[in-house]
Amino acid sequence: MNQHVIRLAKSCLDCHDPSCRPGCPINTPIPEMISLFLDGEIKKAGQMLFENNPLSLICSLVCPHDKHCEGNCVLNKKLSPVSIGEIENYISSRYMNDVKFEKPAYNGNDIAIIGSGPAGIALAIIMALRGYGVTMYDGYDKIGGVLRYGIPDFRMDKKILDQIVEKLVTLGVTIRPNTIIGKNINLCDLQRDGFKAIFIGTGVWSPKKLGIKGESLGHVHFAIDYLKNPTVYNLGKKVTVLGAGNVAMDVARTAIKNGAEEVRIMYRRGKNDMPADYHEIQSAKIDGIKFDFYKSPLEITKEGIKFEYMNGDEKGKEGFENTNSILIAISQNPRDIIVKNNTQIDTNKQGLLITDEFGHTTRKGVFASGDVVTGARTVVEAVAFSKIVAESMEKYIKTID
Ligand SMILES: Cc1cc2nc3c(=O)[nH]c(=O)nc-3n(C[C@H](O)[C@H](O)[C@H](O)COP(=O)(O)OP(=O)(O)OC[C@H]3O[C@@H](n4cnc5c(N)ncnc54)[C@H](O)[C@@H]3O)c2cc1C
Repeated sequence: MNQHVIRLAKSCLDCHDPSCRPGCPINTPIPEMISLFLDGEIKKAGQMLFENNPLSLICSLVCPHDKHCEGNCVLNKKLSPVSIGEIENYISSRYMNDVKFEKPAYNGNDIAIIGSGPAGIALAIIMALRGYGVTMYDGYDKIGGVLRYGIPDFRMDKKILDQIVEKLVTLGVTIRPNTIIGKNINLCDLQRDGFKAIFIGTGVWSPKKLGIKGESLGHVHFAIDYLKNPTVYNLGKKVTVLGAGNVAMDVARTAIKNGAEEVRIMYRRGKNDMPADYHEIQSAKIDGIKFDFYKSPLEITKEGIKFEYMNGDEKGKEGFENTNSILIAISQNPRDIIVKNNTQIDTNKQGLLITDEFGHTTRKGVFASGDVVTGARTVVEAVAFSKIVAESMEKYIKTID
């Protein structure tokens, strides 16, 4: 038994009215998890976490805990909070290593899941456990969405996703990779082929553009594209990252770990305006990333970036930064391939799918959750939304039976 994790668990004050649990977007039963663990019931604790959140193990690694559970821990006010993520990680790793699923009896209903990110995987697990025949489609060759092709290896070991694939297959989920829905196969094909309900969890994969001259040059890359396979890029010695959110931190750290000698984040606002989480900024600093504040890019040339100073004595003046490569990390929008090639799927101005709070889209029998509905958010929020969709989808299927 890991003494370190026991010590962490014992630091919990077992509050009468805990604020950690309501601080979690998926309402993780944190006090119950800790007391089961300390009572020697690690398997029960793991099962409880999994039933509440099938991606508990992943969330234990990638959640912004300082904003949610740990940020709400009472100890946070004076000391440091209970390391809830670390405790959850220990329990959920053990559970996922040990648990043996069996394929549930088929209930006669098939559903199609488009997109195998956290939203799609969570729904696939929940519905497969209830006996639904689940087929999951993804445009990529492997499942995981951003978990596989966005979050860098140094933050999350991709073996966890391989373990999830094994569990999905055991539960009877059929995975159809390399298949972009909206191209050759459309929603009406899925409906014709007997799927009683369809789920869209296709995320946001269309990088936002800066809209400045030079953006199409060969040494300019979008962060979300670069992160898919960083080793195929030759960025050179000096790299500039434009943007200061979590994705910018990931891309900057990936570039430096892949051999760039100098990586600078250029941001048009100040240090305290950066949208990235505190611990992501800290990790980037520790990895040697440099920050240039109050510089707004005007034009990209083969030699670097022309920018405008945004404050201080030089405000309004132009400057130039020599750089070998530029990585643009200013968020993403959804792709429109499904919406363009199908009818009755309404979107908002940003192209995000319109749903009600239960995940019904404007097309009957078609549901959605995750980033494609909410815009770029977090893994735990995508999973929490898919739990709601599971209920509404089941209700819907029962009404048409
Ligand atoms: C670089 C990066 C780092 C991040 N780090 C964190 C973090 O540390 N913690 C955190 O909580 N959140 C993080 N996020 C956000 C988080 O990953 C997302 O909120 C989450 O993945 C959304 O899940 P999703 O299932 O909606 O979409 P996605 O994960 O985007 O998955 C969508 C899937 O749909 C597939 N797809 C798209 N269109 C089609 C189609 N037409 N046909 C078939 N398949 C299709 C895609 O290939 C993809 O596999 C990060 C995001 C990025 C970009």
